[in-house]
Amino acid sequence: MELPRNPTRAVKVGNVTIGDHRPIVVQSMCATRTRDIDATVCQSNDLHQAGAGIVRIAVDNRKDAAALEVIRDRTEANISIDLQENYRMAGLVAPLVQKIRYNPGHLYHHERKRSWQDKVRYLVDIVEKNDCAIRIGVNAGSVDPRIKDLFPADDSISPMLASAEEHSELLDNIGFTRYVVSLKDSDPDKVVEVNRRFAEMRPDIPLHLGVTEAGLPPDGVTKTRIAFEQLISQGIGDTIRVSLTLPNARKAEEISAGNEILSDIASGRVRGVVAFDRTHLNIISCPSCSRVENEAFVDLAEDVKKMTDYAHDYPFTIAVMGCRVNGPGETDDADLGLWCGPRAVTLKKGPETLGRYSYDEILGQLRAQLDKLIALHSG
Ligand code: SF4
Repeated sequence: MELPRNPTRAVKVGNVTIGDHRPIVVQSMCATRTRDIDATVCQSNDLHQAGAGIVRIAVDNRKDAAALEVIRDRTEANISIDLQENYRMAGLVAPLVQKIRYNPGHLYHHERKRSWQDKVRYLVDIVEKNDCAIRIGVNAGSVDPRIKDLFPADDSISPMLASAEEHSELLDNIGFTRYVVSLKDSDPDKVVEVNRRFAEMRPDIPLHLGVTEAGLPPDGVTKTRIAFEQLISQGIGDTIRVSLTLPNARKAEEISAGNEILSDIASGRVRGVVAFDRTHLNIISCPSCSRVENEAFVDLAEDVKKMTDYAHDYPFTIAVMGCRVNGPGETDDADLGLWCGPRAVTLKKGPETLGRYSYDEILGQLRAQLDKLIALHSG
C-alpha cells in the first residue's frame, strides 16, 4: 500500500532527500561521548549499516568539534549536528556535516543581548556556505521562555507551535527553505496534536516526527507507534526517529523499530492504538546522547522500571533523564523525576527539587516518594 503524503518541499541532506513524496527517512542519534572517537565512529557506522539515512551527533564545545573532524573521515553516514546552547559551534562543524539541528529554546542562553533573529541569520549564513540543511527542533521541555510566557501554563501545544512558526517564517523571509521542523513531546497524544496543527498551517514544510523520551522498549516503541500510526497514515511526517533508552551496543534497534512501524503502516498492519493509556504508571526516559553524565544512566532507567512495577496500576508519570542540560526542564511535568549528574541523581516532585542522592541511594528515595503518592491517591 502506498502511503499518502503531504506535498512537502524537498530538503536534501547529503545523499538523502526528505519530503517531496520521497520514502520516509529513518534516523537516529549517537549516544556515545562525541570525544570518544572510536565509540562514536563505531556507533555511527552501526546506525548507518542498519539503514539510518541520517546520524545525529551532539557537539557542545571545541573538543567535540575537533573529535568530529576525525569521525567525519571514518564514517560514510550523513551527519546532522545537534547544537544546544553554544550555537556558534556551527561555524566549526558545518564544513564537516550535512545538517544542523538547533533548538529555538536554547538560543537565548548565550550572548543574551544578541537577538534570536540575529543568531538564526548567523546559522543560515553558515549552512548556506557549507551546503547544509537545518532542522528547527522544538521540544516541549525546552520551549523558548519568551514564548512560553505568552500562553497559559496548562497549554503546552500553542507555545511549541508559535516557536516553530516564527522560526519558519524567519527562515522563509531570509530566503532559506532547506529546512525541516520537529515538534516533540514525551506524550504521544500531544505529538499527534501539535504535528497535526503544524501540518495544517504549513503543509509545505517537511516534518521530522518523534516521541521524545519514549523510554525503554517495548513501551517506548508502543508510545512511538501510537503517534506515528496516526500521523503517517494521514500523510504527516517525512523523517522519523524512534527515541529509545538502550545500551550503546543495541542502539541500532531504534532503526529496526522505525522500519517495522513504517512497514506495518504501509501494509495496513496498524495496531490501532489511538490514545495513550493514562490509567497505568508511565515511565519516560531519554534515549541518552553524548551529554549523558554517567554511563549508569541506562541501568538506572531499567532499575526504575523494575522497582516501580508494583505501582503499575497507578496513573503516575516518572521521568528519568541522563543529564543536566535537558534533565531539569524535561522532568518538570512528571509526578516524580530523576536527572543524572556525574556522581549524584537529583530527585524531583513536579518542578520541586527534593534532594540529590548517590546512585546507590536513589532507588530507595524514589520508592519512598512513590509510596507517598500512592497513599495520597488511595486515601
Ligand atoms: S536528557 Fe541529556 S542525556 Fe538525555 S538525550 Fe537529552 S541531552 Fe542527551
